Amino acid sequence: MSNIEFIDLKSQQAKIKPQLDEAIQKVLSHGQYVLGPEVTALEQMLSTYTNAKRVITCANGTDALQLVLMTKNLQPDDVVFVPTFTFAATAEVVALTQAVPFFVDVNPHTFNICPHSLKSAIVEAKKQNLNPAGVIAVDLFGLPADYIALEEIAHDEGLWLISDAAQSFGSSLRGNKMGTLAPVTTTSFFPAKPLGCYGDGGAIFIRDNDELVDKLLSLRNHGAGTHRYDHINIGINSRLDTLQAAILIEKLKVFDWELEQKQRLANFYNENLPSWCEVQNIPDYYRSALAIYTFKCDASKRESIKAYLQDANIPAPVYYHMPLHRQAAYECFPKTQLPNAELLCKQVLSLPMHAYLALEQRQHLIDKITVFVG
Ligand SMILES: *Cc1c(COP(=O)(O)O)cnc(C)c1O
Repeated sequence: MSNIEFIDLKSQQAKIKPQLDEAIQKVLSHGQYVLGPEVTALEQMLSTYTNAKRVITCANGTDALQLVLMTKNLQPDDVVFVPTFTFAATAEVVALTQAVPFFVDVNPHTFNICPHSLKSAIVEAKKQNLNPAGVIAVDLFGLPADYIALEEIAHDEGLWLISDAAQSFGSSLRGNKMGTLAPVTTTSFFPAKPLGCYGDGGAIFIRDNDELVDKLLSLRNHGAGTHRYDHINIGINSRLDTLQAAILIEKLKVFDWELEQKQRLANFYNENLPSWCEVQNIPDYYRSALAIYTFKCDASKRESIKAYLQDANIPAPVYYHMPLHRQAAYECFPKTQLPNAELLCKQVLSLPMHAYLALEQRQHLIDKITVFVG
């Protein structure tokens, strides 16, 4: 039996190697390496795939968030609510744009930002004389956040809402695809994400309001106006390489097949894992992009389960071992009580999730984990 990979990018590459080679060769021939024709074609394909009105690609998922925040005219007392159980980029961009990230707790079953905690955080921020400006929800491990509740709160409180869907390209909620679940959505094409390129890449999805589009196109290209050397905004350099776009176009063609395979693997895990593995809950009407398959276990046993699985050549990493509000760089920012995130960081463990896990590898994993005695 070959080694079990946590995410198997090699088998994926082997599946579409001729198409990739041809697409790369085409870019080398035309030589438009930055914002070339493949970039525009990809943006169109992503818009068709998600039903978002416009898609604007950029250099990575962090820039995608930052570019959107740069359109919000944030002031130093402005607060942006973010879940504390996420990757650092979600809060990083808020601090970089001079606003205050305010940490909010997550739901212990879906692991996503908790609407009740968000409401308490808004009250608390106002008490501290801060100015609530917006919310960044994260679709953790591929599962969309509760956008129905979040949009209602944002509307009632006059806040804007951004979906950080770096981990959830391809997910949906009530049949609506990621990219249309909030007014503005961002994603990442980092290699390990559901739709990954061979380097860094990112995109912004605009659900229906065209107004932002021109500004974002300008901001990602040094604030350029209609002429390349007219500068009407203070922008950044955040363009997607044409080579990465060409690769993403080929990967997008097998994306639905891969997601189907991953769903089958998730069903197999769900049916065969022992009951002490409490898997991330995917509520009715939600479809996860299955970026990272994660379960909770007894906190006191987590490290021994992890070591045991690694001994059996089963990669079992921890996402995330520490909530953001405990990280040295983020301790200074305001927060409410965050008990769910604190506990999750001690309980979670992730299992291999990709479209290329062979039957015998699946069975090996289940055989091993079922006989674990702590
Ligand atoms: C990966 C990730 C990002 C950042 O994406 P990059 O392309 O690596 O910059 C942002 N938010 C979340 C939740 C992520 O997982």
